[in-house]
Amino acid sequence: MTETNAMPTPQVRHPGLVCRACGCRDFRTIYTRPRGDSIVRRKRCRNCDRAISTREKIA
Ligand SMILES: [Zn+2]
Repeated sequence: MTETNAMPTPQVRHPGLVCRACGCRDFRTIYTRPRGDSIVRRKRCRNCDRAISTREKIA
């Protein structure tokens, strides 16, 4: 995978987050919800409309 293209003002910047269906990195966040000591974010791919969820630890 090449990462040489500079993305113009990405709305969602999440390192390492790639759509497993189409491989793009363009997501929009549907909702953000705290769960225990972490935050669950529901995102949807702008390209193929596949929904994924990520979990982030609260510092
Ligand atoms: Zn996708």
